[in-house]
Amino acid sequence: MEKAGLTLVGTPIGNLSDLSPRAAEALSQADFIAAEDTRVTLKLLNHLGLKKPLISYFEHNRNDHGRLILERIRSGESCVLVSDAGMPAISDPGEHLAAACEAEGIPVTCVPGPTAAVTALVLSGLPTGRFTFEGFLSVNKRARREHLLSVAHETRTMIFYEAPHKLRRTLMDLAETFGPDRRVALCRELTKLHEEVWRTTLGEASARYREEEPRGEFVLVVAGAPAPVLQEPDVTPEEAAELARGWMEKGASPAEAAKEAAKATGLKKGEIYRLLI
Ligand code: SAM
Repeated sequence: MEKAGLTLVGTPIGNLSDLSPRAAEALSQADFIAAEDTRVTLKLLNHLGLKKPLISYFEHNRNDHGRLILERIRSGESCVLVSDAGMPAISDPGEHLAAACEAEGIPVTCVPGPTAAVTALVLSGLPTGRFTFEGFLSVNKRARREHLLSVAHETRTMIFYEAPHKLRRTLMDLAETFGPDRRVALCRELTKLHEEVWRTTLGEASARYREEEPRGEFVLVVAGAPAPVLQEPDVTPEEAAELARGWMEKGASPAEAAKEAAKATGLKKGEIYRLLI
């Protein structure tokens, strides 16, 4: 690279042919490469016929190695960050390095590439106009429960990542949160030889994987809840105000009467109050 700084480079999620020419160029020009798994990246570099200094950067060394990487960038070197697969900073520690560089005013750029989330979304057959990325559910019981509660009424399509050995539990929890009839697409081994997209319901998926050992990498794309139908109020504000005036005649203040009328009709207290004064 001509300039110092950090470049986030997307790499294939299973098919080497998905590596873009620009990603190969960025790798060849970097002074050094920070890699989530140096063995995986070494294979990629061998495939490209490149030799580059590598430094590992993963969840458990991100503080120490993050400091080393920042020092090298500050001293004028250019760094490419790659993850195990897909876009760095999507459900991997790359987000911390990118944020640390941004905080120090170090230039950060990106050579975009495949990501399992968006690949699964477009294959899911579910609405893509509005969606949320939920990443992994925590294994910590409380954090997991809070996460699930926070999306219980979500109307947008939701994307979850999961490891195969935790899939069974996750499908059960999702079926419990959203109900067994909620649609889901299980997107497995994307871009690989045994790619499979199974469009089904959470109940069916949960039942299958109670019997069968899940294998491979999965993205779960879950349909959002139906949008709530906004109901026309049965009572008009004028009718509610009339009701409130009845209470005022019996001695209630306008605020008290508006509050009671709001409770009785489901209309807003302020709206009724304004009609009373
Ligand atoms: N940075 C990656 C990305 O951009 O998609 C995600 C990294 S995250 C640590 C790994 C998770 O991504 C896996 O557990 C799985 O849920 C999903 N994943 C990655 N590659 C996949 C593939 N080829 N097929 C299905 N899911 C995949």
